Amino acid sequence: MERYKKLQNLMADVDGMMVMQAENRRWLTGFTGSAGIAVVPRSGKPVFMTDFRYVEQATEQVPGFEIVQAGREMLSTDLQQVLTKLGIRKLGFEKDHLTVGQFQKMETALSDIQLVAQDNVVLELRSEKDGSEIELLAEAVRIADEAFNYILDVLKPGLTERAVALELEHYMQAQGAAGASFEIIVASGPRSALPHGVASEKVLRAGEFVKMDFGCVYQGYCSDITRTVVLGKADERQREIYHTVLDAQLAAIDGIRPGLTGADADALARNLISERGYGDNFGHGLGHGVGLAVHELPTLSPASTHTLQVNNAVTVEPGIYLPGWGGVRIEDIVVVTETGCRILTSAPKNLIELA
Ligand code: ZN
Ligand code: ZN
Repeated sequence: MERYKKLQNLMADVDGMMVMQAENRRWLTGFTGSAGIAVVPRSGKPVFMTDFRYVEQATEQVPGFEIVQAGREMLSTDLQQVLTKLGIRKLGFEKDHLTVGQFQKMETALSDIQLVAQDNVVLELRSEKDGSEIELLAEAVRIADEAFNYILDVLKPGLTERAVALELEHYMQAQGAAGASFEIIVASGPRSALPHGVASEKVLRAGEFVKMDFGCVYQGYCSDITRTVVLGKADERQREIYHTVLDAQLAAIDGIRPGLTGADADALARNLISERGYGDNFGHGLGHGVGLAVHELPTLSPASTHTLQVNNAVTVEPGIYLPGWGGVRIEDIVVVTETGCRILTSAPKNLIELA
């Protein structure tokens, strides 16, 4: 089914929806440019408005939509004409993605149009991946996996965290990625206790944990992986913490299946970490959906009420962080299947001690 038809099926209280947010727009239409509005009526053929720079691109990338060239008045006169043509009187808009200025402009310029704030319905639709999306995601994951294997040969005492991050990013780009999917985290020694310690000028030292959280964008799809290694021989405490996190991660992957809530999934790992005495040191949720954006639905956390469904792609990333000492996180991407889940990430996650 065309993706816009899935949106049409969800329209109850509006005659049409306008979609502008970049990832929502791309998912809905295939358009990769930076300016455009998809206007989807409750039934019938939708319209894609864009400016002269993108008309040719939209004609290629957005089949199934009528392409309308718009000008400076895209949110006023041009939009009014499209709405009139499509017979839309009650227009839904993405309430989390329209600025106050854009809203005021539309309110002033559009006559006889009722603007109806909508939750992010496209984001919810995006949480169920189709086969082509899973293939692209798997390729983004594969590139990140290879980058991890590559960096194992590079890591050594004396390098800065930033140098490691740059190596990862260059490697992924050389393998066909458009770039990193977020600012790369390389956090070593005591800094590894920072869950989101982006790479700094700190120098790696022998005996330290090196926690690396990174990913790339491949044809729009984001990967996200965390591995923690020891730069030398692990001491007893490093070993204990590492294996606690790994056991929690494996328990979660083992238990994830359709029908669980995000909170149930989170508890699979959190209970194990709590039983071993580190419950207070796992301060973030178990994971998040991933796709065109690196953070999507569903959310796996103690407060999550989302229910896992077949073809959700989510991260599984428990961690333990001891302030002043260090921390470990292990993160894979899995796709929920009928009976459980399939792990996309293949980088090794045994405790790696680099000589
Ligand atoms: Zn991550
Ligand atoms: Zn993540």
